[in-house]
Amino acid sequence: MPSPVTDPSVIEGYLTDASNVQGHADGLVRPRTTEEVSAILRHCQAKNIPVTVSAGRTSTTAAAVPQGGWVLSMERLNQIHHIGHDTAEADGGVFLGAFQTDVENTGRFFPPDPTSRHECSLGAAIACNASGARSFRYGPIRPWVLALTVVLPNGEIIHVKRGDAVPASWPSVDWVEPNVKTAAGYAPTRDAVDLFIGQEGTLGVITRATVRLTDLPADVMGVLAYFPSRAALLGFVDVARRSAPSPVRSLGRLHATRRSGHRRAGHRGTRAAVSLPGASRSRSHQAAGDTGRPHPGDLQASVGRWHRRSDVHTA
Ligand SMILES: Cc1cc2nc3c(=O)[nH]c(=O)nc-3n(C[C@H](O)[C@H](O)[C@H](O)COP(=O)(O)OP(=O)(O)OC[C@H]3O[C@@H](n4cnc5c(N)ncnc54)[C@H](O)[C@@H]3O)c2cc1C
Repeated sequence: MPSPVTDPSVIEGYLTDASNVQGHADGLVRPRTTEEVSAILRHCQAKNIPVTVSAGRTSTTAAAVPQGGWVLSMERLNQIHHIGHDTAEADGGVFLGAFQTDVENTGRFFPPDPTSRHECSLGAAIACNASGARSFRYGPIRPWVLALTVVLPNGEIIHVKRGDAVPASWPSVDWVEPNVKTAAGYAPTRDAVDLFIGQEGTLGVITRATVRLTDLPADVMGVLAYFPSRAALLGFVDVARRSAPSPVRSLGRLHATRRSGHRRAGHRGTRAAVSLPGASRSRSHQAAGDTGRPHPGDLQASVGRWHRRSDVHTA
């Protein structure tokens, strides 16, 4: 087991996160392997030392702020082990953005994109069930997680894959999710992988993850569309997700903001910035002289069902 750092000037860098809440800790450990995490947790449980798992510390809820005990930093558990066509495997402490870049360099795509993705870790994004703008199209990180290596608080190392049942001897999580956005929190599930998604480090340390990959969008077109009301915007999103064969069905990123007055542009109402992953360029498209890219006209036609076409701008 790595010896804990006790130098207050080193520990100081781990006492807060993006919430700016200030914490305190007696020790800092930075394991490089799952086995080291296991040894640390076994030791801490035996000695009754509280442990706070810490990664990029971009949490806005003080979830990574220690209140005594040891900080277990994931920063050295940061290897990418495998990037294939359908799946990739990496340590929990790898930066999410760096992981995504490596995946995209192979022509594949891992969509979950919390705005903090270049500063946050893959393991914590899973532990918080992070979402991002692309969630409108691809969902949060949960459905992209196939398997996990987790170290339980008693130091036991477990490997769980989708479809594995939560052991019957474990307490069940029974609660009804409120009817509002609730990404993080214990999942009301008997799927062992889902149990560790959204648990924010309270049930175990995610040291390794296998995730699903998909096709890298060929082209992305940015547009800015103005809608007269939120209802009109949501109507557009609903149909855009389902409609075919318009490229709008590939809706990938959507930022919706309500502005009471866009005076410069002379607009009032709800604004949506939409990035559209393009259709893949098949041979038949090319033979027909069609690049397969989404065309501003297609989008204007789709949005125009809800609003004036002149209020759709491409970038
Ligand atoms: C500018 C900014 C933008 C953000 N945008 C988004 C966004 O778009 N969507 C979104 O969902 N969130 C967003 N967040 C919140 C935050 O970035 C995410 O929740 C992110 O996943 C946290 O990752 P981290 O590595 O910084 O984790 P930390 O902040 O270090 O830790 C977060 C929690 O996860 C636990 N944890 C860390 N690593 C592990 C591990 N390996 N195993 C188990 N538990 C672990 C910690 O104990 C803590 O409870 C944003 C934050 C900021 C500051």
